[in-house]
Amino acid sequence: DYVFKVVLIGDCGVGKSSLLLRYSDDFFQESYLCTIGVDLRIRTISVDDKRVKLQMWDTAGQERFKTLCGHYYRGAEAIIIVFDVTSENSFSNVLRWYEEARQLSRQDTVLVLLGNKSDMADSRAVSTERAQSLAASLNIAYFESSAKLCDNVKETFTATTRKMMEAYQKH
Ligand code: GDP
Ligand code: MG
Repeated sequence: DYVFKVVLIGDCGVGKSSLLLRYSDDFFQESYLCTIGVDLRIRTISVDDKRVKLQMWDTAGQERFKTLCGHYYRGAEAIIIVFDVTSENSFSNVLRWYEEARQLSRQDTVLVLLGNKSDMADSRAVSTERAQSLAASLNIAYFESSAKLCDNVKETFTATTRKMMEAYQKH
C-alpha cells in the first residue's frame, strides 16, 4: 500500500478546508471553517487497483501570513496550490505559493494548481485559459473544482494520486 502526504496551500478563503472536508467526509459547510493547529485528514482510496492512504494536510490559518513553515511541506508527495476563480488577488499570489513550495519541498514532489469555486460563474475573475497558461508556464497540471457542488473534487485528488504514484515508481 502507498501512503502519501498531500498538502493544500493558497490564500485564506480560497476553499482549502472546504475541499478537504468535501473530499474526506463528503460534507460542505457554508460558514468559515475555523481550523486550529494543522488539520490532518485521512482517506484511503483505490487507484488502478492499488490501495492508497492519503494524509491530507490543511493549514491552521497560518496562510494569512502568506507563508508556511518547513514542517508543513516536509515529506509531501504532492502540493495542491489552490486559488479562488472569483479572486484575482488569490490568483496573483499563486506564484508566491509556488516558489515557497518549490523551495521547501523535494524536487520530485508533485505540484498541481487548482482553481476552486467554479460554481460562481457570475463573479468569475480568472478565466480557465489564464489559469491553464500559468500552470503550463510552471509545468504543472491545472484543475478546476467546486467544493460547494462537489464538482471535480474527487477527480482532482485521483489525478494527483496517479501523479504521485508515477513519481514514486521513478525512484
Ligand atoms: P480556506 O481558508 O482556504 O480553508 O477556505 P474555506 O474552506 O474556509 O472556505 C472559505 C469560504 O469559501 C467559505 O465560506 C466556504 O463556504 C466558501 N467556499 C469554499 N469552497 C467553495 C466553492 O467551491 N464554491 C463556493 N461558492 N464557495 C466555496
Ligand atoms: Mg482553512
